[in-house]
This record gives sequence, structure tokens and C-alpha cells, in this order.
Amino acid sequence: MLLQKYLQTIEKINPNKIYVENVRGFFKVPTFVAKLMCEMAVVDKVFIKKIALICSNEDCNRVIASYNSANEIPEIITCSICELEDKENYIYETRNLDKIEFYQLNTLKNEQ
Ligand SMILES: [Zn+2]
Repeated sequence: MLLQKYLQTIEKINPNKIYVENVRGFFKVPTFVAKLMCEMAVVDKVFIKKIALICSNEDCNRVIASYNSANEIPEIITCSICELEDKENYIYETRNLDKIEFYQLNTLKNEQ
């Protein structure tokens, strides 16, 4: 299967941060196909889906935290980097933050 071929190359990509864009680029398929492949990999327990919250300070834009599902996202979150840098804003309502979905290789399955 093509996805397995992709997984063999994954060492070159961070297996903890697989974006639809990585899959799209590798297989040279449209984004919706790449997204579908990722979702199928989640169903097959090859990938774990994660949701990352992005800091809204323009000069930060870092991933503050990532979660396994939308239900796990707290209402309020602190960007510790912005806090350390004494930014005006560093506590956010998570519903106002950009969220990025990414995937991780399910290493638990590989150990079985
Ligand atoms: Zn920040």
C-alpha cells in the first residue's frame, strides 16, 4: 500500500508532526485526498490525530499545546513563552485561537 511506502520515508519527517501537507507533497495528490488518507490512517490506528493551539501573538505563532480531541481543550490557555517575554497578552480563550490538525505515527500499534 502507498501509505506504507510513505511510512518508510517518515524517518525523514518528524513522525510526531505529520501534516496533511506532508502527505499531499509526498503522494502528489490533491489536499482533500491527502486529508482522506490521513483520516483513513487514523481509522486504521496507524496515525493519531492531534489538535494544536497556535499562539495569536504575531511574533510568536508557536504551538502552545496539542490535544487528542476537541473535548480535551481547556477554555483558557497560557502561552508560557509570551509570558516569559512579558508580552501584553499571553492568556487566551482557546475558542479564539487558530487550531491546526496534525497527525502522529501511532507507535503503540508498532510495538504490538
Ligand atoms: Zn505566544
